[in-house]
Amino acid sequence: MMKIDVLTIFPKMFAPVLNESIIKRAQIKKRVRIDIHDLRDFTTDKHRKVDDRPFGGGPGMIFCPQPIFSAVESIVPIRGKRKAKIILLTPQGKKLTHDLAKKLSRQKHLVLICGHYEGVDQRVRKKLITDEISIGDYVLTCGELPAMVLIDCVVRLIPKVLGKDESRDFESFSQGLLEYPQYTRPAVFRGMSTPRVLLSGNHKLIEKWRKDMALKLTKTRRPDLLKQGRSIDR
Ligand code: SAM
Repeated sequence: MMKIDVLTIFPKMFAPVLNESIIKRAQIKKRVRIDIHDLRDFTTDKHRKVDDRPFGGGPGMIFCPQPIFSAVESIVPIRGKRKAKIILLTPQGKKLTHDLAKKLSRQKHLVLICGHYEGVDQRVRKKLITDEISIGDYVLTCGELPAMVLIDCVVRLIPKVLGKDESRDFESFSQGLLEYPQYTRPAVFRGMSTPRVLLSGNHKLIEKWRKDMALKLTKTRRPDLLKQGRSIDR
């Protein structure tokens, strides 16, 4: 079972997302255990303060190293023998992609650190963090949403989490292509009909149509994916 620990100053943000749908089922099925820790529980400050002003001046506040070091050391106690990935969510990190999510889904233990204000003290990054991850080239107010995005896309890739494992093998990015268009009942809606091939029952033709459409869509919308050369059977 994968274990995910999250360090946050907003622990209440997580329950509405993690206790729904596939992520909830993954926890019930014991494919993953997710523990949310309030960073303030680890501070030695009597006012439960976790941040301070930056040395050298400037706007905003920085997370102090002490609560983060104490929290990580209590969650992953064996120094030097750490098997966990200690991940800082930051816009300065490596971009989260399907491939990175897949790699993370094979890990046994992830510790996610959610920043706030102006970020965290550099010594945390230097000594504690094994990976820095960004969910995109924009700046959010805090790391809680990025942590939830990461948890969602990683957990659904853990084997046996999705009802039909094959559904994740043929979706966007899994084979370097965007997914083909999908239709369901009714076959004709407001004069718009479903491509005839999808109603034909001919699985070979359907598969070919889907591959062609996926390739066409990817060429138009994300030619960069084709340049990466990962897609199969092109
Ligand atoms: N001062 C930081 C900078 O310029 O890189 C931005 C800090 S941001 C306002 C506060 C926190 O939100 C960050 O510490 C990080 O945890 C989170 N965050 C914001 N944007 C993010 C992104 N694109 N990916 C991951 N985390 C992000």
